[in-house]
This record gives sequence, structure tokens and C-alpha cells, in this order.
Amino acid sequence: MIKVAINGYGTIGKRVADAVAAQKDMKVVGVSKTRPSAEAFVAKAKGYPLYIADLTKKDAFTKFGLPVAGSVEGMLKEADVVVDCTPGGVGEKNKPLYEKLGVKAIFQGGEEHELAGFSFCSDCNFSEAVGRQFVRVVSCNTTGLCRIINTMDRAFGVDRVLAVMVRRGSDPGEVKRGPVDAVVLDPVTIPSHHGPDVNTVLPHVNIVTLAMIVPTTMMHMHAVHMQLRRDAPREEVLAQMRAHPRIGLVKKGTEIKSTAELKEFVMDLGRPRSDLWENGVYEESVTTIGRDLYLFQAIHQEADVVVESVDAIRAMMGTVKEAERSIAMTNEALGFSPIR
Ligand code: NAD
Repeated sequence: MIKVAINGYGTIGKRVADAVAAQKDMKVVGVSKTRPSAEAFVAKAKGYPLYIADLTKKDAFTKFGLPVAGSVEGMLKEADVVVDCTPGGVGEKNKPLYEKLGVKAIFQGGEEHELAGFSFCSDCNFSEAVGRQFVRVVSCNTTGLCRIINTMDRAFGVDRVLAVMVRRGSDPGEVKRGPVDAVVLDPVTIPSHHGPDVNTVLPHVNIVTLAMIVPTTMMHMHAVHMQLRRDAPREEVLAQMRAHPRIGLVKKGTEIKSTAELKEFVMDLGRPRSDLWENGVYEESVTTIGRDLYLFQAIHQEADVVVESVDAIRAMMGTVKEAERSIAMTNEALGFSPIR
């Protein structure tokens, strides 16, 4: 049993905790919060031992009936590996503690590549993560881009990529963030950080990304153009996507044309928290003209990095050495097969 601590029980952390708890080869030893909130009550209800960053704040939890198991340092001493799901930039502050205690740590995409020195996407570079002490799981958008680009690169070769990302303004619970009524270029300059971030996983890919933020909480939407190295018949492209364990196809018959309808669809399928762990490629959008491939894909910001984080745990612990096997184990434990 791999003993896993989750430092930062928020949007990503609460999902990683449940995904880890579902695995036969892993156990959640604890989750952490800085202050009492709805998520602290969820941790209690789910039976996850709750640790806190600052033990002097223990009374703030216990007065609401939230038992505190100890300090974050105490939690880390129980763990083989910690998944750091604190807000971007906090992971950097936590790293010295992980180093002091000799615990392996997974950081999320809000941290810089240099913090871990290795950026991870399961089906791109799993084997290079085997045995590492520090790994960074790339952001939701970068994960979605890496999956689709790597799949096409393996099958056809990719000469260059242009991806336009229409990003959600906030997660559903983040009531104080916006925009409320604007399209915000984020950034105005081109490329956005996503292209260089893809290069931390796939250094050879020639990619330019543009990004904007819109008033929605559901998901991101990517418009992607790839120039491939050879002509790619549409059916061959679709066959590659169907063979991928984390690329889903939103089929014509569903009549789904939006992120909102897609979220409703996965909710009705009974996915926990209506999470879309896979890329949601709109099948009808997949168009090939000679070597040029065009598509739309929805990326659920709260979900796609969760399954990758579970795979990263196995790679770092060295208990599984092949990406395909870990991906299959993770997916099966969650009862997850991509939408088709
Ligand atoms: P969040 O704000 O929802 O959750 C962070 C949690 O960490 C909160 O529960 C907070 O109480 C806790 N926390 C804060 N400081 C802490 C500390 N010092 N010690 C322990 N816990 C602390 O954040 P999130 O959206 O889950 O993001 C976490 C990471 O995942 C970031 O790096 C982010 O960039 C990345 N990420 C987020 C998304 C997304 O859409 N939400 C998608 C992909 C990756």
C-alpha cells in the first residue's frame, strides 16, 4: 500500500484524495487545510484524517466539531508521497519541508517547472518519472494539449500546432473571481504560457498558443490546428483518439454543442462531481484537409489532472513502470472509460 498525503484539500486536493482512496494499491493517510471551511466538513464526513498547517489554529477547527489529527509535518511523517494541491506558489514554500523529511512530492501546474525539474503527463513521459523525488503534474490546459498532440505525433508526426484556448473565468465555488462580463485576453501577448508549458513535457513540439478568459465556470474550450507530417485521413485520426484511454469523443447523436451540456451529460452518467477526466473532443469538429487537422476539445479544469496525479504516484514509487498499466489501473479503480 502506498501511503499518500494530500497537502491542500481544495478543488484539486479533494478530487485527488477520492481518486487515491479508490485505488487498490494506495491509501490516504491524511488531508490538510489552513482554516475551517465546507471542505473541512467534507473531509470529516469522508473519514480522512484532517491535519492543519498551523497547530496554533487548532481551536478554530475543534470549536466547529472538526477533529484535528495533527500538523502537516506530522501528516508527512506518515506518508510515502505527498500530493501538494495548495494554491500556486505555496508548493514552492512547502518544498524545503518535503526535502527535510525526505518525502516524495508531486506539485501541481500552478508551480513552475523548475520547482520539480520534471513536468509530467501520464502517456507522454511516465517512464521518465520512475523513482523521482519531485514531479510536477502540468496544468489542466497543458495536460489536455499534451494528450492530443502526443497521440497525433506518435501516429502521424506533428510539424506545428496552433491552439486557441477559451478559458473558464473561475471554478464554480470561487464566487469572488471573474470576469463577470468581459472577454479578457490572458495575456494580450502571443504566445500564452501554455505553449512553452507543453514544451516542458514535449520539448520537440513546435507550438503557439493564444489564450483568453470568459465568464463561465464549466470548462475550458480549445480550438486546435495541427499540421501533421503526412496526410491524415479523418477515420485514422478518429481511430487514434478512440484507442486512447483518456481521450473522449462527444458524438453527434448527443447534440452536445457546449461545455454546459457536456457537464450535464457526464453528471447524468454518474461521474463523481460531474468530472470529465478525459479530453472532450467534439467528434464532428474533427476535420482533416491533407496534412492539416482541426478540432475543438473541452477540458474540465477541475478533473483532468486528477487521474494524472494518481499515475505520477505509481511512477515515483516505482511500483508500476509502464504508463499503459498505471493508466488502466487508475481508470478501472474509478470505473472510468472515456465517453464515446
Ligand atoms: P484551491 O484554492 O481550490 O485549494 C487549495 C487548498 O489548499 C485550499 O483548501 C487551501 O485551504 C489549502 N491551503 C492553502 N495554503 C495552504 C498551506 N500552506 N498548507 C496546506 N494547505 C493550504 O486551489 P486549486 O484550484 O485546487 O489549485 C491547487 C493547485 O492545482 C494549483 O497549483 C493550481 O494551479 C493547480 N490546478 C488547478 C486547477 C483548477 O482549475 N482549479 C486545474 C489544474 C491545476
